[in-house]
Amino acid sequence: MADTPMLKFVTKGQLYPPKRDAGTRASDFQEISSSFPVPDAEEQASRCSQCGVPYCSTHCPLHNHIPDWLRLTAEGRLREAYELSNATSTMPEICGRICPQDRLCEGNCVIEFSGHGAVTIGSVEKFITDTAWKEGWVEPLVPGQPRGQSVGVIGAGPAGLTTAEYLRAAGYDVHVYDRHDRAGGLLTYGIPGFKLEKDVVMRRVQRLKDGGVVFHEGFEVGRDASMADLRKQHDAILIATGVYKARDIRAPGVGAQGIVKALDFLTASNRASFGDDVPEHTDGSLHAAGKHVVVIGGGDTAMDCVRTAIRQGAKSVKCLYRRDRENMPGSQREVANAEEEGVEFVWLSAPIAFEGTGHVTGVKVTGMRLGQPDASGRRAPEPDPGSEYSIEADLVIKALGFDPEDLPTMFGADELSVTRWGTLRVDHKTMMTSMDGVFAAGDIVRGASLVVWAIRDGRDVTDHMHRYLKAKARAKASAEGN
Ligand code: FAD
Ligand code: SF4
Ligand code: SF4
Repeated sequence: MADTPMLKFVTKGQLYPPKRDAGTRASDFQEISSSFPVPDAEEQASRCSQCGVPYCSTHCPLHNHIPDWLRLTAEGRLREAYELSNATSTMPEICGRICPQDRLCEGNCVIEFSGHGAVTIGSVEKFITDTAWKEGWVEPLVPGQPRGQSVGVIGAGPAGLTTAEYLRAAGYDVHVYDRHDRAGGLLTYGIPGFKLEKDVVMRRVQRLKDGGVVFHEGFEVGRDASMADLRKQHDAILIATGVYKARDIRAPGVGAQGIVKALDFLTASNRASFGDDVPEHTDGSLHAAGKHVVVIGGGDTAMDCVRTAIRQGAKSVKCLYRRDRENMPGSQREVANAEEEGVEFVWLSAPIAFEGTGHVTGVKVTGMRLGQPDASGRRAPEPDPGSEYSIEADLVIKALGFDPEDLPTMFGADELSVTRWGTLRVDHKTMMTSMDGVFAAGDIVRGASLVVWAIRDGRDVTDHMHRYLKAKARAKASAEGN
């Protein structure tokens, strides 16, 4: 034990990679933190106490081998750390950047409970795989021995990309269909560059393309092909389409110009970051420059909208949320980042009407108070009588969450069974939907969730699809008398 490089949490304090100064970072879309320099990564990894039962791993949806790759990092054996980290995740550097670690691995680190501050697991994970990319350790995707079977993946988000990678490595022909012109799903067009720079996503996509995964971009299932068409072409299908129907507000004036959906706003901004020509950006309808912006909602999407609006040069940015800070769904870290960048949070407030004729000029707001806990156990917000007031607004962004689209109708597949929330119903033992050979994973099954859960689902569904496809091949061979 005497010469162990680990257990340094008493002598070495917790450190995150330094954030760029709020004033500077609020004027561009680059990530707000740099990576650890090598000595800091090694030192931070060395704080881990190598728990026999590592709660960090238990609470990581991928059950990453966290204590093992922390030890390898502390010992300077970075390439081995990368290989271990890569063994359980298709995109560790992305999770290291955008997982809500405070609710997952780091929030359950025993060192946090002992008052020393959690091991900064996410930042070390990001450091390991960023270093691997820099050093050329990230191997190309090598397709397995061809199996003569083909898989269609609908949706190129983290769930679809994960499955595509693993099934290609297992020797299948893999075709990925996505209605957007670039792959990546919300990694590309939802999450802004200041949390996840786009080249980090694109290099992952390129690796799959180079490994022979065929991408059909700008291809919308339901418009360009039906589910029946795809089933004829492929031996199995994965539906990983995410959830995109924006929840709306019911209040007078909500149809006014200048009241927009969060994802339209974020997609326009992300497209502009790629250098695309985005007319709604240029004409100002989806741009915050010079405007008083009000964002409604308290989740990740709302946080991304307020911080994007600041970067676009808004005159003021307010976030209205009906509960208080302690009861918001978004990450506390993101709230702190937003506040540093100049966002004002108006807790316990909800819109009751939108003002202005034609174009919005303001939001009529009521104060809220927290009542008895509801079915979810959270205290239900209710209007506080007599607390109404108005806030000036030229741009209102609705960020109230997402529901699934009506896939059975869109895909022309009435036999596709859905739950009462509209998510796809799957047999949880096989991840197969009500249609034979059609599987589903990610947000379209869970409802709006997290990237790391989409990756986990993509990993799990791969095993089920592989089993199904092998059985199908065996059945075919025996029918042919082989
Ligand atoms: P998606 O990423 O949504 O990908 C689905 C893909 O399917 C899309 O590319 C879509 O174009 C395609 N598609 C849909 N319908 C069709 C069709 N008919 N034909 C062809 N293609 C189709 N999670 C985190 O962990 N950390 C964060 O910081 C975070 N921030 C977020 C910020 C925002 C603004 C949003 C909206 C979500 C955020 N999330 C975050 C959640 C996370 O992005 C999702 O949980 C995750 O991307 C779900 O992955 P998925 O593969 O299931 O679906
Ligand atoms: Fe933590 Fe997410 Fe990485 Fe798991 S994948 S170790 S939860 S940052
Ligand atoms: Fe290390 Fe914390 Fe995980 Fe324990 S819980 S193994 S100290 S990172």
